[in-house]
Order: sequence, then structure tokens, then C-alpha cells
Amino acid sequence: MMQTEILPPVDHAAWALFLDIDGTLLDLASTPGDVVVPKDLLTLLDALTRRFGGALALVSGRSLDSIDSLFPGNRDAVGCHGAEWRLGGQTFIPQPPWPDGLLAGIEAARRRLPGVMLERKSVSLALHFRAAPEQEAAVWDVAEAAVATDPRRFDLLEGKSVIEIIPAGVGKGSAIERFMQVRPYAGRRPVFAGDDVTDESGFAAVNRMYGLSIHVGNSPTTKAQFRFPDPESLRHWLDGLNIALQGGNGHAQP
Ligand SMILES: [Mg+2]
Repeated sequence: MMQTEILPPVDHAAWALFLDIDGTLLDLASTPGDVVVPKDLLTLLDALTRRFGGALALVSGRSLDSIDSLFPGNRDAVGCHGAEWRLGGQTFIPQPPWPDGLLAGIEAARRRLPGVMLERKSVSLALHFRAAPEQEAAVWDVAEAAVATDPRRFDLLEGKSVIEIIPAGVGKGSAIERFMQVRPYAGRRPVFAGDDVTDESGFAAVNRMYGLSIHVGNSPTTKAQFRFPDPESLRHWLDGLNIALQGGNGHAQP
């Protein structure tokens, strides 16, 4: 598939924007708690939210609580890869909590793996090994053993230096499709930017809806139609989009 940084001239004001956070809007850090939100990014997101008639959502593997700590303001957001979401100020967490036995087993196994961090989200369990890459194989063993306790109910999601145990059937693609069925998203053209393998279901979903899929990074196998090399260049493009829409003609200049 041909990939380019030049986006086609279309009515940008009629877009609905879906943005992954880590590695897409923000540069990756050694742990999720260490990321830095650049000055002016909150203002930019607020401005874009207005320009798109409210149709802007953050779509992350982070929990909604974690998203709010970085981007306060009760924004529309999809958390935990689609297992929880907030739309128009209303929060939805349709999945039941984790069985205590499963959590205790994972925590006990993690204690034997120095440098590995267990993040307990409301609907997913994330094992982070960015600080201890040598533990990757052992982390896979722990995660696969956990899923094996009930394979119909649980699934694994691989990210950058993280493996997550999630409810089966959850994904960013289905979350974006859900948003696109309701106001203010319905009738708009979905645009989704992401960087990771967990974003591929989102790319596939917006491609099916004749939207725009944007990969941030250098994956050779992405389904995304367009590409930016790093979060900084995506932020720069968003800034330009905001300025173009400010002009009122709804067309971003190349
Ligand atoms: Mg990401």
C-alpha cells in the first residue's frame, strides 16, 4: 500500500478524530507514569474538539483514570483498548471485575520477575517489562497461563514491552465503530492515529468506514493508509489542522 504524509484535500471539519496516546500523541517513556504531556497539547485538543463539533476521542490502552490524569477535562475517551469508555460525560464499563484468584496468581508470579510491573486496570491486567526486557519470555508464560484458566473469557493483547490480559472480544476497532454510531460522531469521517499493534484493529475499522488511518512510527506491516515518523510530527500536523480550520474554510493547506 502506498504511504505518504500528504493527506488528500477533503472537508476536514466533517472529520471525527480518534487519537491513541502513548507513542502517538505522546513520546514513549520507560514506564507509563513517566510520559510528558507537552505544553499546549491540552489547549490544542480543546480547540480541535470544538472544531470537530465535539467529535474527538482519546483511544488508549490506559484506563480512563490514567487518561484523565494526563488529559483532564472529562473528555470523550476509550480506555483499556475498548473495554471501558466515556461518551458525552457518561462512563461505560460493561465488563465484570477480575476474579480475585486470577489476580492473586498473576501477582505472585510477577513477584518472581524483578523489573516487571503489574498494572491493575478496571478491565485489563497489564504486565509491563520495558524496564526488564530480559523477562519477556517469562511474562508471556505468566500471561498465557492466566488466559488458559478461561480462554472463552480472556484474551491477550501485545503492546510495546507490555502484555495485557483483556476480556475476549474487546478492541479499539469495535470501540471506534460504537462511537461512530452516535452523536456527535455519526455521519462524520473517522480519522484514527495510532502507533502500536493494538491499534491495527482501529486502522481496519476506519478503513472499512472510508475513514483515514494514520500510523505513527515505522511498522512495515501496518494496515494504516498514512504515516508520520513520530509523535512530534503528528502533533505538528494536528496543530496545522487546527490553524487551517480556524481560517473557517475547513481545508488544511499542504
Ligand atoms: Mg500507543
